[in-house]
Amino acid sequence: MSLTPQGHLLIIGAGLAGYHTARQMRTQGHTGPITILGAEAHPAYDRPALSKAYLCGTTDLCDLYLDDPCDPLDVRWVRSDAVIGLSAEPLGVQTASGTFYLGDAVVIATGAEARRLGGHAIRSVEDAEALRTAPLAGAQVVVIGGGFLALETAATCTARGAGSVTVVAGEELPGLRRLGRPVAQALHRLHEQHGVRFLGGARALSVAPASGEARPGIPKGCDAEGRDPVDQRSEVSQSVALSDGRSIQADVVISAVGAVPATRWLNRSAVALDPVTGAVLTDDTGFTGIPGIWAAGDCALWAAQRTGLRPVGHWQETVDQAQALATALLGGSPPPRQEPYLWSDQHHVTIQAAGMLALADEVQILAGSVAGNDLLVSYLRGGTEIGILGMNRMREVVRWRRSRRIRPAVLAA
Ligand SMILES: Cc1cc2nc3c(=O)[nH]c(=O)nc-3n(C[C@H](O)[C@H](O)[C@H](O)COP(=O)(O)OP(=O)(O)OC[C@H]3O[C@@H](n4cnc5c(N)ncnc54)[C@H](O)[C@@H]3O)c2cc1C
Repeated sequence: MSLTPQGHLLIIGAGLAGYHTARQMRTQGHTGPITILGAEAHPAYDRPALSKAYLCGTTDLCDLYLDDPCDPLDVRWVRSDAVIGLSAEPLGVQTASGTFYLGDAVVIATGAEARRLGGHAIRSVEDAEALRTAPLAGAQVVVIGGGFLALETAATCTARGAGSVTVVAGEELPGLRRLGRPVAQALHRLHEQHGVRFLGGARALSVAPASGEARPGIPKGCDAEGRDPVDQRSEVSQSVALSDGRSIQADVVISAVGAVPATRWLNRSAVALDPVTGAVLTDDTGFTGIPGIWAAGDCALWAAQRTGLRPVGHWQETVDQAQALATALLGGSPPPRQEPYLWSDQHHVTIQAAGMLALADEVQILAGSVAGNDLLVSYLRGGTEIGILGMNRMREVVRWRRSRRIRPAVLAA
């Protein structure tokens, strides 16, 4: 099942998972050829800055490249050629250009695609570039979605001088279900402090061009489009229909409503896909059960992710998976995984979370306050601490992560 040291590894997807798998293979001693096949034209790049510094205009694409020019990966990169099919016997793939590649092992690392409700989305550098060059200054912006990506994007839009930013989300408060009430309240307050309006409890159903006709219920003093006379810099061009029957007008609409695994190209393969999400199903080393075929990153659902023990769609999880997968692919036993970890930057506040937050039945404030942007909260299950979240609490979160080891007794509970 493992790859010989001289075996040819095909990695499908030149993103975070693909890059780190190749890097780990080399670090762990693989000397055989590695080919990374990517659909994008760019060198492999890191995505988190797309909703933050890149969108703000304070960093450029070349700053996001994953490969180290001082220590470049010894691999063959193939760009701008999406893989369209996978064969298990013989083991290999076919690309859109009609080329076949045969390998001794295949790692599927095709990530995810943004769900697109309408307006802008942010997944690729092209998405971010379209928004980066959009006239945001003075614009009425509506961001759809209540997750970290939506909140980060809303924060960046205010930094870019948007006239108004409204976040539309199904939850009453941002992150309420996943992070608990104290954190949700703190996030809500943080965004309000910076002028972001959070419209909770209403789901966005559709985005359509605004009709341009006078609408009922326009407040007195506003023009026919419902705009305040002092804020008529840009045309109101889109209308977001909400589940409660209302609609909101916007110059710029951004959907941050999640992502779907980029696995449609596997529909006719032997690889098992999750019936709900379409993610590649694997064990906790990334092995699909089909000899030679592995998967990691946002396109995959590892066994522990299926049970909710580990998060899906986060940077650290992807990097950790790449390391574990490489070890297993080379015939070793991956060491126990670190506690899950994720972060987000919003209005100059860094939010870091570690541990099994999804399993918590209690949330306790350890330090700071909901109003102070300095909250530190503990997540407990049956009275045992299983996770932590800090807002601008880097030292405490780092200390917590260092002190932790995965405790099987807690996981099994
Ligand atoms: C805007 C944004 C901000 C984020 N911010 C954070 C953050 O603050 N904190 C955090 O923890 N996580 C964050 N994340 C999540 C993190 O970036 C992802 O978890 C990570 O990028 C997943 O890596 P991946 O390699 O699985 O997928 P990707 O990085 O998406 O890479 C997949 C690659 O495969 C390519 N591909 C797809 N289909 C094919 C095909 N058929 N053939 C060939 N190539 C293909 C794609 O074009 C892409 O280049 C963010 C993500 C985004 C989009």
